[in-house]
Amino acid sequence: MPEQLDGSLELSESQRLVRKSIRDVCSEYDREYWREKSANGEYPHEFVDTLAAEGWMGALVPEEYGGAGMGTPETVVMMEEIAAGGGGFAAAQAIHGGIYNTVPLVKYGSDAMKEDLLPRVARGETAIQTFCLTEPNAGSDSTSIETFARREGDEWVVDGQKIWISRVDVSDYAVLVARTTPKEEVEKRTRGISMFLVDLADAVEQGALEYDVIEKSASEFVHSYQLYFDGLRLPASALIGEEGRGFYQVLDGLNEERLVIAAECLGLGRLAIERGVAYANEREVFGRPIGQNQAVQHPLAEAFARLQAAKQLTYAAADTSASDRDADLGAYANMAKFLAADAAFEAADAAVQTHGGFGVATEYDVDRYFREARLTRLVPITQQLVLNYIGEKVLGLPRSY
Ligand SMILES: Cc1cc2nc3c(=O)[nH]c(=O)nc-3n(C[C@H](O)[C@H](O)[C@H](O)COP(=O)(O)OP(=O)(O)OC[C@H]3O[C@@H](n4cnc5c(N)ncnc54)[C@H](O)[C@@H]3O)c2cc1C
Repeated sequence: MPEQLDGSLELSESQRLVRKSIRDVCSEYDREYWREKSANGEYPHEFVDTLAAEGWMGALVPEEYGGAGMGTPETVVMMEEIAAGGGGFAAAQAIHGGIYNTVPLVKYGSDAMKEDLLPRVARGETAIQTFCLTEPNAGSDSTSIETFARREGDEWVVDGQKIWISRVDVSDYAVLVARTTPKEEVEKRTRGISMFLVDLADAVEQGALEYDVIEKSASEFVHSYQLYFDGLRLPASALIGEEGRGFYQVLDGLNEERLVIAAECLGLGRLAIERGVAYANEREVFGRPIGQNQAVQHPLAEAFARLQAAKQLTYAAADTSASDRDADLGAYANMAKFLAADAAFEAADAAVQTHGGFGVATEYDVDRYFREARLTRLVPITQQLVLNYIGEKVLGLPRSY
């Protein structure tokens, strides 16, 4: 099966290099490996350690701090290949935070913070895998967060709750988003929010952080938690960037990250179609391969076509992000995520249907892809919220939320 149509996308030299290197790493981890991780709900430490040892956790860390200094065009290739390489969307999610949580530090961190942390991240010694935004009373409506950091002398004191926070168990530090001015006292609700760096071991040692795992049915080897902060003391130097500007700092770089999420969906979709096509060629019913039936071929073909369309948009937008022409990046990034998540879902659904009863047998993996594909329609932003953005910002319709 072609991964894409010849000539439809011209990869650059650096993109080809990333693709080859990641494929080499992925080839060391077979289907059994991922099946076992899924069955045991066990984080893929070996896979992540291999990537870290090769410096991939520092993908977005500038070269001056020992990182790879990659841009979005290379990162979409990296993460698509990780998902397509057998581990699916969950494998990409196992490292996604570690890579993207360096971005606010690079853009807004103090020199001391950058000099201390970024080289260690690039060497794979320290992980900043956790990003704490979502709260029980503020999911999609993130400016309604209630976690509050108040200034006391030279320290910040944090109280509040977070939910659905991933990879706390494999992270040394978290990027925390909290209110520093009450919502009622700011002119716009996007103001008065700040960003902090939290040393997780220190927070636990202070007795100011507790967390419980959330049992879930998708991406089962990447764990998510509910967090309780109770009087957590942070030094003044833990503030990332400017007090009160944290929400804008979250938004900065979000479009590029969303394109990379789209690429992770594309990788999952490709993996699902590959498995569907292989089974359709091999399984014989009524004396012929099931893939000879159009009812089996067409859903796979349709999903493939949709994946190609989503890939064109994702990769073209990733290229745009590297140039000066970033005016419409928000529109492209949101459309790419929407189309790629839906295409991945259709691909996984077609792969399950193609497998007949074995579509739900864990041995064939496609049930896992299906659950992950469903998840891509919910995270990191739901499909409806993406459409809200397109309706308002692209089509000029009244704001609906
Ligand atoms: C596996 C997993 C990992 C996660 N990891 C992290 C993490 O590491 N860090 C973090 O901060 N967060 C994380 N999240 C949270 C994730 O970003 C949120 O779940 C997501 O943004 C949706 O928020 P919600 O679940 O509160 O849904 P809600 O906001 O409660 O929405 C519920 C439903 O209503 C719809 N809806 C609500 N308002 C509107 C509207 N105005 N118009 C149309 N539809 C609307 C939504 O689209 C959705 O379908 C994770 C979530 C999951 C499931």
